[in-house]
Formats: sequence, C-alpha cells, structure tokens
Amino acid sequence: MTGRQLITDTQNTWCPGCGNFSLQHTLKNILAGLEQEGKSLDDVVLVSGIGCHAKIADYLNINSFYALHGRAVPVATGIKLANPELTVICCSGDGDSYAEGLDHLIFAAKRNIDMTVIIHNNRVYGLTTGQYTPTSPLGFRGKSTPMGTVEYPFNPLELMLASGATYIARGYTKKMDLLRTLIHDGIVHKGFAFIDVLQICATFFPLTDYYTPRVYELKDHDPASFDAACAKVKEWDYNSDAPIGLGAFYQRTLPTFDTRMAVKPVSDEERSRAVKMFLLSRS
Ligand code: SF4
Repeated sequence: MTGRQLITDTQNTWCPGCGNFSLQHTLKNILAGLEQEGKSLDDVVLVSGIGCHAKIADYLNINSFYALHGRAVPVATGIKLANPELTVICCSGDGDSYAEGLDHLIFAAKRNIDMTVIIHNNRVYGLTTGQYTPTSPLGFRGKSTPMGTVEYPFNPLELMLASGATYIARGYTKKMDLLRTLIHDGIVHKGFAFIDVLQICATFFPLTDYYTPRVYELKDHDPASFDAACAKVKEWDYNSDAPIGLGAFYQRTLPTFDTRMAVKPVSDEERSRAVKMFLLSRS
C-alpha cells in the first residue's frame, strides 16, 4: 500500500496538550518521508506496550502489535528475529519499560537488536492516574505517594550506555524538529537505537515550565566517543536543576544480533573480531 492515510479514524482519547500527539505526528511525518524515499511501509512494524503511549498503535495506520505491560521490547525482538528484513519500531513508556519491562530493555541493548525503542518518558503513570515511576523526581507527590517519593530516579541514558545500546539519544516533545531528526536517525541506525523522549503529561505531570528553560541542543559533542558520552549523560540526573542536553549522545556501529544469528557456526576469527570491536567501542 502506498500514499496511505497514516492517521487512523479511531477516536483519540489522549488529553488535550498531551505530548503523545507530538510523538504521533513526528512518527507520521517520518513514515511518510520514508515512503517517499521508496520504502514500503508494509515492511514497518510498530509495537507498543501498556500505558497512554500504547494507543499510538491504534492511531497510526501501520502494522502494529499491542503487547502486554512491559513486554513491548521482547515482542519487537521476536518480530525482528523472525523476519530481519522488517523495520521494527517499539514505542514504550517509562512505566512500561523502565519498571515492569526493564530487564527486557537491558538485554535488547546488550544484544544490539536492530530496532528503535522510543520511550514516551512522562515520568508518571498517566493511564492509572498519576503514580510515580522510576524516573519521577525525588519528592514526587502522586496517588501512591501523597507525602512524596523517598527514592531518587535512575538515569536511563546512563543505564543504556552501560548495557551496550549503539545509538542513544534524548528528545523533547516541545522540540519537534530535533525529535524528528533523532527518531529518523534511530530508525536508519543499524543496531539498537534508544531514544528517551521527555514527554509532557498535561494532566498528571505538566513539566513544560521545568524543561523548556533548561533544555539545550548538544553541540561540540562527539557521539562516537564512549568516554564523552559517559560524561555527557551524567550532566543531568533526572532530578537536579542542571541543563538538559538534547540530541545524540552516543552512536557506534557494531554487529547486530540478527546478523550474528545468521552466521553458523561463529568462527574463531569472527568471534575474535567481535570481541575486539566491542573492546574498541569502550576505548
Ligand atoms: Fe497524556 Fe497524561 Fe493524559 Fe495520559 S494522562 S493521555 S500521558 S496527558
């Protein structure tokens, strides 16, 4: 099918002002652009998990799979391994893949599965009306923590860097041009692409006034340098008032899991080359 209407007729139930709209339209524009470049959208699969973000599978007219809570990444992994020719995009939430499905996210990065994971990181469980997630700041007051959380958030970029992701970026739903570039680059990247998107939850955690004065676009940063990426991802810890960098923090080309699976058996030479490339990626 070509020239398709990419936004479906399904009734949209996201709240007015929700950052999910930015992600939906960004993805729509990227898909339309890929189609114009000659890519068949029949070869693209979108997987979502459970949460407000997941409705994107209903709202974009593309092959899609609505997975169980926390299981978007393993479903996307299975789809990619069953048919490596497919372009697999996985939309997930911070509650979905930083909590319930965290182990799957880590192992997909470790294996360098050739897919793009977009985290709609609104730092709150929106669908269940406002509980704290692993990236909510210390002291967040919500339905499950009326007195405020007593734990620090973790830094998902730092976690993905340590886990082996080969493309790591951060976007913001109020900076749509940059968001489009980052997601597009993640989709064309050969390997595990991870994009943490700071997304506004208009109803339960409207952080526009916090993000907008702090965000800046990365400049003079070398994404090929692991050490530079290590330093840069620590600049903001998802809790402090530090500047918040947006852009690609890290990108390397390494063999993907599906290409390694296709080589049977792995020769000593190939194994040695893979080990050397991995060590080089850490130098
Ligand atoms: Fe969007 Fe928050 Fe409403 Fe969910 S609850 S649709 S994340 S604004």
